[in-house]
Amino acid sequence: MDSGNHSCQACGAPSSPLTKLSLGKDFFGRPYDRLSPSSDQNPRWYCASCSLHKHFQRDFRDILSEFDKLRCGLSSELSKAGEFQRASLRLHEIMMILNVPQQTSPFLNNRDVTVLMERLNTLTMPV
Ligand SMILES: [Zn+2]
Repeated sequence: MDSGNHSCQACGAPSSPLTKLSLGKDFFGRPYDRLSPSSDQNPRWYCASCSLHKHFQRDFRDILSEFDKLRCGLSSELSKAGEFQRASLRLHEIMMILNVPQQTSPFLNNRDVTVLMERLNTLTMPV
C-alpha cells in the first residue's frame, strides 16, 4: 500500500494519476548508480507534469556535467558528434517547453538552461 503517497512529491498537487518515477539511466544511456546523488535512486511519485520536468532536470544535469568535462579537456560524451547534437537538440526541446506559460518547472529554471545552451554554442562542434 502506498498510503501517504496521494500527492505529487514535487509540487504537492493531489491530482492523479501519479507516476512512480525511478531514474534508471542517464541521458547518455549510462546506468545511474555511479553518477547520481543517491536520492534519485529512490522511486518517487510525481504528477504527469512534474515527471516530465524531472526528466528534463536529469537530462540538463547530465549534459551540464559532460559539458564541464569537455571544457576541462577530460573525456566526455559530448566529444562525440552524435551525442553533442543530441544534447543540443534536447536542450532546445527543454527550453521550448519551459517557455510555455504555466510550464514553470519545480526543478529547473529557464535561465540555467539558456546559459548552458549559450555555452554549448560557443564550442566548436566536434567532427
Ligand atoms: Zn507535480
